[in-house]
Amino acid sequence: MKVNLDTLAIGKSTEVVEEYFLRFPDEADSDKLLVSGDVTLDNTAAGVLISGRVNVSTDTDCSNCLEPFELIYIADVEIFIDRVATQVDVSESDWVICQQRGVVDISESLRDVAMLSRPQRIVCDEECNGFCVQCGKNLNEQSCDCKTEETDSRWDALP
Ligand SMILES: [Zn+2]
Ligand SMILES: [Zn+2]
Repeated sequence: MKVNLDTLAIGKSTEVVEEYFLRFPDEADSDKLLVSGDVTLDNTAAGVLISGRVNVSTDTDCSNCLEPFELIYIADVEIFIDRVATQVDVSESDWVICQQRGVVDISESLRDVAMLSRPQRIVCDEECNGFCVQCGKNLNEQSCDCKTEETDSRWDALP
């Protein structure tokens, strides 16, 4: 997503972020991130505040059953393009871009925000049963008999 500081009208405006692939050509193995939603651009003399909530979708694997699935979550966006400062104290804010004129590409910041909002626990479904550690069957698709035989009684006879 690009913001042109020279042509952007002063005041608030809405920009639709739609079907946006945040994959950079030099990162072939990076996850595909599809970001969509509306962001508000508040353009003042000091800078442009880009804020809003976006939907993020990415292909990932369930940490429980290891099956690939499409993870969907919401990310809160707040990115500021500072027209005044030339350098910003990083501790002040994570999402400040310093630029006075021209076109600003906020794709990378947007991608970072989306990545950081990723949930800690990634499961395909809250009810996911995972897989059997003994026979490797996906227990969402089929059940197995391993669970009932926690210890094999035949081994008890051995010394
Ligand atoms: Zn799962
Ligand atoms: Zn099993």
